[in-house]
Amino acid sequence: MSERWIEVADRVLVRRHKELDLSLGLVLGENACLVVDTGGDVVHGTNWATEVRAVTALPWQVVITHAHFDHSFGTAAFLPCPVWAHEACRAELVAEGAQQRSHWAQVYREQGRPEVAARITGTDLVLPEQLVTDRAELDLGGRTAVLVNLGVAHTSHDLVVHVPNADVLFAGDLVENGAPPAFEGSSPATWPAVLTRLLELVGSRTVVVPGHGEPVDAGFVTRQRGQIAAVAELATAVQAGDLPEQEAVHRSPFPAEATLAAIKALTTRNRSGE
Ligand SMILES: [Zn+2]
Repeated sequence: MSERWIEVADRVLVRRHKELDLSLGLVLGENACLVVDTGGDVVHGTNWATEVRAVTALPWQVVITHAHFDHSFGTAAFLPCPVWAHEACRAELVAEGAQQRSHWAQVYREQGRPEVAARITGTDLVLPEQLVTDRAELDLGGRTAVLVNLGVAHTSHDLVVHVPNADVLFAGDLVENGAPPAFEGSSPATWPAVLTRLLELVGSRTVVVPGHGEPVDAGFVTRQRGQIAAVAELATAVQAGDLPEQEAVHRSPFPAEATLAAIKALTTRNRSGE
């Protein structure tokens, strides 16, 4: 009841979810369709697959924009099918998928939502097998979906999904609308350059679909790039000892929690020499 479809372009749909303000995508070609992200647990994925089947009977392929649970844990519901992701996304699911699953189950238990925790705990992790290094083109029949990695930003392995003939780009969590970008584990310093490359793919009329929140345009992405660059600069100054953390929080365009996460992410990344 809280979910709804938006047709953002001809035969390109976005399913908006109240939970986490999540946006999942569906691109319809003449011979096949592409499902962009699969939801946060086995039940969510099953519901999402049913919703897709209510729209189209076309054979589907799946692309995972990145390994975070809310984008990748619903994949089992779509099998058997090709599952696309960046090669480092697969590596991250291998290394940290189970840990991510127990972490989020605990978070939901602590929030007093044991039913969601149980769904996450009961989720089988699916490893993508169609691996992308830089770029892949999927022919859906009369329409191509281009999967591109633009560099390290929200994660080490974000893929964007560009559908040129519909003028739509799914940005995953490289862009967020309605909430600050999620900086935990990110690379704040290189994120703005990734958004610059993203902006080179789009025009002023392109619909950009964030991983969370309503669709936006290039102007929104440009503004968010400026905010992320500002936070990265503040975080760099804190790490260098040139700025007290509280002053960085005060000057930041984002709330304290996001700013502190960016400082922590940048510090951790620099310490590990990445
Ligand atoms: Zn994410």
